[in-house]
Amino acid sequence: MSVTIDDIRAAETRIRPLIERTAMVVSPSLSDLTDATVMLKLEHRQITGSFKLRGATNAVAQLSPAQKARGVAAASTGNHGRALAHAARKEGARAIICLSRLVPQNKVEEIGRLGAEARIIGESQDEAQVEVDRLVAEEGFASIPPFDHEDVIAGQGTLGLEIMEQVPEAGTVLVPLSGGGLAAGVAAAVKALRPACRVIGISMDRGAAMKASLDAGRPVEVEEVATLADSLGGGVGLQNRLTFAMCRELLDEVVLLTEAEIAAGMRHAYMIEREIVEGAGAVGIAALLAGKARATGETVVLTTGRNVDMEQHRRVICGEIA
Ligand SMILES: *Cc1c(COP(=O)(O)O)cnc(C)c1O
Repeated sequence: MSVTIDDIRAAETRIRPLIERTAMVVSPSLSDLTDATVMLKLEHRQITGSFKLRGATNAVAQLSPAQKARGVAAASTGNHGRALAHAARKEGARAIICLSRLVPQNKVEEIGRLGAEARIIGESQDEAQVEVDRLVAEEGFASIPPFDHEDVIAGQGTLGLEIMEQVPEAGTVLVPLSGGGLAAGVAAAVKALRPACRVIGISMDRGAAMKASLDAGRPVEVEEVATLADSLGGGVGLQNRLTFAMCRELLDEVVLLTEAEIAAGMRHAYMIEREIVEGAGAVGIAALLAGKARATGETVVLTTGRNVDMEQHRRVICGEIA
């Protein structure tokens, strides 16, 4: 069971009118540093501020009219919640995003602005997830999870198709890695079209669940700790169905980064590339700066998101943290 290039092509046709085709630009400074041609895929400029819109839109678009009327639910505080709220509104579907009492008020308001209902429940994400499970079991909602789902992976994979259109000769693609929906989808597209292209996953060294799982040979749990790459936090799920096996088969390598390296990536994005990129989105740049990922030929760095707290961003830029 896996997601194929045909699934990804079908997803592309489905979501094309609803998402931005983001720009690919050369980074002269990273090219100088690495003796390769480094290109940045500016996906942090996607609508809602991250690539997660692709997978959420593809998943919502395939629901029946009856299912859209009943609604979709998720328990994400971050980029998946924003993306699902936006995608549901565009498709005329009801959406409930379940959040714990600990989620900051500005995030709650943002979900409302994007047209979804923010339901505040319990003291943790796990308790919020219990409410999602209840909505599914008792009220017929569809649960759309952030990564381990065929339609979500296929939607994220459309980024791989775009990369291959924009840089057909790519030698290396650097992809931020958490639950692995993005890396699985992008690698499935890239490897189908250009098997020789290397695809490298990049995580923070604090709580890298996919890396620990790949090393163990099965999905394992890791302790979740605060990191500048907060969008890369969380596990892969002990019952992982798809992304673990796909990442094991398709990724050439996984690289881990320290907090200081991630901060340097965010600073480079801002000061040199003139882009506001969140920690998770800057790990590809960071891996090149740290010399932990090798650029070969035309190298594509995927910058995935920009939903960073701007006070935290300021402190990183000013060198006050990491
Ligand atoms: C979710 C996310 C990732 C990681 O995607 P996975 O599919 O969970 O591996 C990377 N960057 C940003 C900005 C994200 O929101």
